[in-house]
Amino acid sequence: MKLVYRAIVLLCIILFFWYLLQRTPRKITAPREEIWIVMGTVASLRTPASEREHFPVMLQIAKDTFDAVNRKLSVYDPDSELSVLHREGALSPISPLTKSFLTTTIEMTEKANDFFDPSLLPVIQLWGFSGGVTPTNLPTADQIADALDSPRIADLSIDQTGARYAGKPAHIDPGGIAKGFALDLAFEKIEQQFPDAHFLLNLGGEMRAKGKAEADRPWQIGIQHPFEKQAAIGIIRVPSRFAVATSGHYERYTEIEGERYAHIIDPQTGWPVSGMAGVTVLSPNSTEADVLSTALFVAGEQQANPLRKRFPESEAILIPDREPIEIYMTPGMQAWFEPYPAFRDNIQPWEKLGTQTE
Ligand code: ADP
Ligand code: MG
Repeated sequence: MKLVYRAIVLLCIILFFWYLLQRTPRKITAPREEIWIVMGTVASLRTPASEREHFPVMLQIAKDTFDAVNRKLSVYDPDSELSVLHREGALSPISPLTKSFLTTTIEMTEKANDFFDPSLLPVIQLWGFSGGVTPTNLPTADQIADALDSPRIADLSIDQTGARYAGKPAHIDPGGIAKGFALDLAFEKIEQQFPDAHFLLNLGGEMRAKGKAEADRPWQIGIQHPFEKQAAIGIIRVPSRFAVATSGHYERYTEIEGERYAHIIDPQTGWPVSGMAGVTVLSPNSTEADVLSTALFVAGEQQANPLRKRFPESEAILIPDREPIEIYMTPGMQAWFEPYPAFRDNIQPWEKLGTQTE
């Protein structure tokens, strides 16, 4: 009996140490991640294990910031400041968040030339996106011309007291910039509170990275194959403080009269863009990455190079909508993007863009 008792005690001791051995190291080395739904998409925060103490506060900052952006800028919420500006043509007083968003949006729209224009909301809705109803028939030339002929965000004046249009207000679709703007805002707030923190913040597939994933490994992001849902063409090693954004025809589209149309509209024609499968951009911040990926998607092969020159701090990968896959990348992207071996032969020099005849 004594022997049995001893054996049980021994077993308990062994089990206890085994439990400690199992638990302790995992607790120290496991990275942290939380995923949540906001702004109609998926957000996530990932950190190495070393941030485990700060993780809850970092997460709260990210959640609060995304919620605040959504509250001020959602076009689906009639009480958001952006909805009030659309309805009344003026907003006074204006929150610092909305003021900063509108100022940034005007700046970026100008910088992206004729390829990015959030005042396109009426056109975008005509095609069934951003709150519009998918039409059964293609919009007519007159409908498109009418929608294109709407006021522009450049006509908005902003000062200390508020924002207002002299004439009719533009209706802004924040969809091409708000995610990047929200990411930067949350990134800056987390960085301010934890200057040495390591984290990867994601909003709807757009990312901004700080520090490293592990002591000797940078944050890495897989780049999706635009023609094969479950496949990736390679990875980007994201330098600290940089951002990655992708615009793809596979992300969101609509079907009208049996044809597929992308959710990105050419501001010149009012038609959904065709010819491009995916654009991925690496930029010093998420706002620029978000805007430039959409704008390059619109610019297409012929005009990508002159547009990209207006954003010298950004690098890009551009994949036209044809097979076999061709992967064009800016020379500076080579340092960060590593194609998987199967795609090495599909890499094309950026200089080749715009030189082919149609
Ligand atoms: P996603 O939001 O799917 O990641 P993008 O960042 O490329 O993709 O943004 C596309 C969104 O931007 C569209 O869903 C629409 O709301 C808006 N948009 C479409 N075309 C334009 C354009 N030419 N300029 C500005 N915004 C656009
Ligand atoms: Mg974008």
